[in-house]
Amino acid sequence: MKSKTEAIIISSMNLGDADKLITFFSLDRGTLKGVAKNARKSFRRFGAGLESFTLVRLHLNEREHQELVRIESADIIEQHASIGCDLGRAAAGAVMLELVRELSPLGERNAPAFLLLLHVLHLLDEGEDPLFLLSVYMIKFLSILGYQPKLDHCLACGIRPKGEVLFLGMKGGILCKDCMVSSGEPQIRLSAGAVGFYYHVLRMDMDKVSRLKPSHSIITELDRAFAEHTFHILGKRLKSTDFLKTVCTK
Ligand SMILES: [Zn+2]
Repeated sequence: MKSKTEAIIISSMNLGDADKLITFFSLDRGTLKGVAKNARKSFRRFGAGLESFTLVRLHLNEREHQELVRIESADIIEQHASIGCDLGRAAAGAVMLELVRELSPLGERNAPAFLLLLHVLHLLDEGEDPLFLLSVYMIKFLSILGYQPKLDHCLACGIRPKGEVLFLGMKGGILCKDCMVSSGEPQIRLSAGAVGFYYHVLRMDMDKVSRLKPSHSIITELDRAFAEHTFHILGKRLKSTDFLKTVCTK
């Protein structure tokens, strides 16, 4: 059966002498994997359309009961070429793509998640700050997938804290100042500013998020909290965050 879909290329791996194994996030059917036969030799059918971050129209050919689709050709819609040319942008983008690969279920349509990724890649390509965008992406993406941490009420006493809180990655929630117990372990604290920024982003339309100008420390606090939270969701660390740390250490 032949079909067409709009998709963002998530990853591309060489397969055999001439083929490529492509993971892509499609508007119609979520994450899928496919083989692009002869992709390393046929510039006419694929061009640069199988590079990560590219928005393409893929022409597919599928057989029933086969997990891998066959990718016949790719037409580029938006290339987002500047992401790959800048280490900071490429590193932040790599974390976004890894989150899609790890968290969005194979073959399940999720139009809001697709449109969010597309919007954020657009802003990244245009030169918006990569760490800021990654933070925005994490907040909105985890919420769309139902993994949204709850930072507004203390897990122990239920009050709505005003000042600094302690983030518990395993529970995706917080403890207020009165309920914090020092365990001697390193703790992830979130300032009132970080919690405020988090809820602003959650409620704000993507068209307006660039108006927010959080401080570097707010982004760092949330980055630590999300690293812990995704670790508990996935049972492992995201690989691409190591690359991000080497590139964006300030
Ligand atoms: Zn409390």
